[in-house]
Amino acid sequence: MSAQLIDGNALSAQLRADVARRAAALKARGLTPGLAVVLVGDNPASQVYVRNKVKACQDNGLHSVLEQYPASLSEAELLARVDALNRDPAIHGILVQLPLPAHIDAQKVIEAISPDKDVDGFHVASAGALMVGQPGFWPCTPYGCMKMLESIGYKLRGKHAVVIGRSNIVGKPMALMLLQKNATVTICHSATPDLKAMTLQADVVVAAVGKRNVLTADMVKPGAVVIDVGMNRNEEGKLCGDVDFAGVKEVASYITPVPGGVGPMTITMLLVNTLEAAERAAG
Ligand code: NAP
Repeated sequence: MSAQLIDGNALSAQLRADVARRAAALKARGLTPGLAVVLVGDNPASQVYVRNKVKACQDNGLHSVLEQYPASLSEAELLARVDALNRDPAIHGILVQLPLPAHIDAQKVIEAISPDKDVDGFHVASAGALMVGQPGFWPCTPYGCMKMLESIGYKLRGKHAVVIGRSNIVGKPMALMLLQKNATVTICHSATPDLKAMTLQADVVVAAVGKRNVLTADMVKPGAVVIDVGMNRNEEGKLCGDVDFAGVKEVASYITPVPGGVGPMTITMLLVNTLEAAERAAG
């Protein structure tokens, strides 16, 4: 048996085309959705991420501004920029690229973003809205994973989903989204004594750890759906996920590749959130 691929590039292309259509409709009403991306410091990976985000906006009819500051920017100066962007009517979404330099309290900066513009979904108000099932912005990566499950028509009700990882940006919100769709959810982490015993029960496994081969074929129930959020490098320096793709694809029914899986979906859901922020602003 060889699993079917859930192609994040193909699904992204569909969703981005819809974003572009809706952005054009808003523009016709005189409102161009706008995203501000703020980068502090010169982390090379962050520079690539922010460029990709800005380009994705431009390619799909969204206005975007990239504000780049040296690592010496003070926390007060950054908070003042966030405050100005909160009040800027041309900006509907604000993204402060993480990680921030050590002298800046990232949580304080995130909490300074207006919840109406929190398109990364990291604000405590967004987390709370997800927790209680109220409208709000969902963090882009787990939101993208949900779209991938939706794209294969997967019905989560009554299924057992195992999430490996409990970060605030991926694992925890992922678990809440799966729960909201009536899955029975188990969250595993570094203190889980027997990960394999958990994953072998899973109809859906989401791996969000950041370590290669956390999930191998012997840990997967035949026919399970496997979503690989991890981004790692193998010995040859090639991008790979947390899942032993070659082995697991022989056991799973569906699997997401790395690259070309969750990665492009994350940026796509940022566009979707920004567009929705603009649509809400437009009433
Ligand atoms: P993180 O904050 O480092 O969290 C990793 C989680 O994995 C933690 O909860 C940790 O447990 C758990 N963990 C570590 N070792 C484990 C083990 N052996 N068994 C079970 N759980 C273990 O990372 P993150 O920000 O959630 O990101 C996870 C991965 O996804 C990274 O590779 C990251 O690059 C990738 N990512 C990809 C995208 C994308 O767009 N594709 C977006 C975001 C993140 P503890 O809590 O106990 O420490």
